[in-house]
Amino acid sequence: MKIIKCLLLTLSVAIARNGSASDPVNGPVRCSTMEHMQHLSAENPALLQIWQSDEQMLQQAMSQNALNRSSSFISVLPVVVHVVYKTNGQNISDAQIQSQIDVLNEDFARQNADTTSTPAAFRPAASATNFRFCLAQTDPFGNPTTGIERRMTTVTSFSTNDDVKTYSSGGMDAWDVNRYFNIWVCKLSGGILGYGEFPSSAHTNTYGVVINYDAFGRTGLVSPPYNMGRTSTHEIGHCFNLKHIWGDDGGGCTGSDYVTDTPNQSSETYGCRSWPAYDACTGSSGNGYMYMNYMDYSDDNCLNMFTVGQATRMANAMSLFYPTLLTSTACESVNGLGDSPDDFRFNLYPNPSSGIINVDMFYMQNIGEHVKLTVTDLTGRSIMERIVHNPNGHIIQLDLTGNNAGIYFITISNDNYNKTQRFMITN
Ligand SMILES: [Zn+2]
Repeated sequence: MKIIKCLLLTLSVAIARNGSASDPVNGPVRCSTMEHMQHLSAENPALLQIWQSDEQMLQQAMSQNALNRSSSFISVLPVVVHVVYKTNGQNISDAQIQSQIDVLNEDFARQNADTTSTPAAFRPAASATNFRFCLAQTDPFGNPTTGIERRMTTVTSFSTNDDVKTYSSGGMDAWDVNRYFNIWVCKLSGGILGYGEFPSSAHTNTYGVVINYDAFGRTGLVSPPYNMGRTSTHEIGHCFNLKHIWGDDGGGCTGSDYVTDTPNQSSETYGCRSWPAYDACTGSSGNGYMYMNYMDYSDDNCLNMFTVGQATRMANAMSLFYPTLLTSTACESVNGLGDSPDDFRFNLYPNPSSGIINVDMFYMQNIGEHVKLTVTDLTGRSIMERIVHNPNGHIIQLDLTGNNAGIYFITISNDNYNKTQRFMITN
């Protein structure tokens, strides 16, 4: 979609649109991010100017490649899920939460099973992103955590006013937004499925997404057509600075999502269209519009792609606005039953790898004659265990080529200490 320079106009149109775009068939409100933006700017009008200058700063940085962000870096964001429930039925299971983490890791890596549904004409533009997700292993106080916390509330339902993000209004407070990606799961009012908050230089303790409990994950309480976890994929797209693919211009062709490889599109899409789909902005020939993009409103089973341009915009925006979140180590377990890091050092290479990875225990003095080496996946499931004798200076090669592409962890431990490092397997 073409990039226009009148950023403030676009913002104003988007906010004034008051577009709780209600699904004309099924009723639920697919996304209330723009309404939430309206709420934020009503509370603090100075934000409008900040958002405008943020967008200019981002576009300038991207045009100069100032952030030097290419497709080569991978950031694993530690996620905390705050489950706020009034009824037991809203208190979703750990399995439902894990299923959402799995979806995010698939969708943001373009490892989703339905990439084959992307029309051939759009496949060259389809892209993995630089982001992966784990449930946090270390809490803000340095203690072990599951990355999930729960609170029973007296609040019947929450709206886009962010009450769910504050303990005093019946919700749960964010964990440090510079180190954790915060997700709140609750009952949202008015059929809202979710909303996200755009990143900004004005850091807030409300940064993150709020998702309705029955549109979160792909198992448990979810039901069609919002049963594949794509509500969170869409809302986190907003948190990484993606706009709606049609440019939020109320049906016109002048609005922009600031991404050049998404076709100009008039309005949001509902249900599931057949390719090619045309509207007033595309004309009646060619590839049509990209209704299967995660930043449209199509049903979950119809969404399957981000574009190269979107991936680039996300990488640059997050590098600019939330750099410390990208390097947070809260995915890793608490280091050491005792604290002896100088006696417990090892390197992993190559990383990422195709599955053959070397573990160089170049400095493991004073820790005894053997250590245990454990490889686990993102869910904490152990996929390999070995005992290494005389580890100091030892290099061993692990063959993990039978495993899926993704993020894994290697922990080396003895009776007193453990240390964990993460690595990535690519296809
Ligand atoms: Zn949205």
